[in-house]
Amino acid sequence: MPPDPSPRPVHKFGGASLTDGPAVRRVGAILAARVHERPVAVVSAVEGVTSALDKVAQAAAEGRDELGPVRVRHRSLLAQLELDPEMLNRHFAELATVLGAIRAHRHLTGLERDHVLSFGERASARIVASYLNSIGLKAVPIDAYDLGLQSDSNHGRAKVLSQSAVRVRDALARFDGIPVITGFVAADANGRLTTLGRNGSDLSATLIGEAIGAGEVCFWKEVGGVMTADPKLVPEARTLRRMSYAEAAELTRHGAGVLHAESIQPLARARIPGRVLCVREPQDAGTLVAAEGAGREAVGIACRRNVMLARLEGNEPEAVRTKVEAALAHEGVEALHLGERGATLELLVPWSESLARALVAAAPRVSLERELATVAAVGCGAAEGALAQLATVGVDVRAQWLVGPPATRVLVLPERELALAARTLHSELFEKVPI
Ligand code: ASP
Ligand code: MG
Repeated sequence: MPPDPSPRPVHKFGGASLTDGPAVRRVGAILAARVHERPVAVVSAVEGVTSALDKVAQAAAEGRDELGPVRVRHRSLLAQLELDPEMLNRHFAELATVLGAIRAHRHLTGLERDHVLSFGERASARIVASYLNSIGLKAVPIDAYDLGLQSDSNHGRAKVLSQSAVRVRDALARFDGIPVITGFVAADANGRLTTLGRNGSDLSATLIGEAIGAGEVCFWKEVGGVMTADPKLVPEARTLRRMSYAEAAELTRHGAGVLHAESIQPLARARIPGRVLCVREPQDAGTLVAAEGAGREAVGIACRRNVMLARLEGNEPEAVRTKVEAALAHEGVEALHLGERGATLELLVPWSESLARALVAAAPRVSLERELATVAAVGCGAAEGALAQLATVGVDVRAQWLVGPPATRVLVLPERELALAARTLHSELFEKVPI
């Protein structure tokens, strides 16, 4: 009997890595160099297309046809790659029909929105697969739901069902060549299209990796690796060589946008290493996400903007809590923090006007603060010196709490002080010790 082939890697490419002809060619070169490893590719929509399709769907609900620019975007990408410009006509015809129906009834359902959004990934999977074929690599575009990726019916934020794994594994084994699978989309038990939430392709990639027992899941980005902070806020930020699943999960949970927060769990469950790599420097090691972290305390700083802090007080705290939970469920919002401080319920959520209104009605005494941001120092529970330094530079910390593991200090502060706070903390926690 031939020996078991080594486990296949999954390579996930985000929208920015598919933005134009040269970008798709870089993706082709990355896969060509690894073809002997029998890679599985998972793709996002071309950069900006999901947001554009979302607007197109909204416009249709208001009676307007705004599909033109999205069609042109894809045709021009096909032209840049010297592929058949008519290749996606059938998909665009289907999309035009869906949009026509939305325009006719002037209303957009969750199902219709997901159907419209799905075209981003369905188009990019076809573009990438045909480009790979054009350079002599055998590849097949696959819609994730045709592989058996089944979700609940929660449109816009569907959860994949665990029974999908066996089907995905068996179905993938039947394909020859490089499967190029749509990220972000799935279908419910009745075959209705769903989407997994914005930036959900990372999660698709790790779920598929878990299903097939992948050797590793590589997330290809425009910037290489996970950094100690967002370099746009903190120019001194550095790339982390490695981190543990728990550290990566904590960093993403607090808003580090580098990976989708839930995408770490399938990796951790299956003990599959993840790698965050740079499409422009494919030789670089990037960041390894695995069972063992770097063995250092401080991991990184994650920031989140546009949050509000509510403090609610009533004579019956239980009743207040029930009302707050009902308001969150009604708005489809998950609390970033919900805790009690004495008789006061403290709640941190993304800013939303309708939620703010519901909260004000939930208790007799409510204070709301908006235009806030959070800075989470992951792995830095005891950051006394850094906190003192924040006070010295005049950052007005409005609330803070300790969560984790790994021990993480979350600070809530005015959004206009975010860059100052992030740079100060970074300098205290990461620039005084070698990492
Ligand atoms: N295309 C989807 C989005 O932009 C999913 C993804 O990129 O991961 O949200
Ligand atoms: Mg994207």
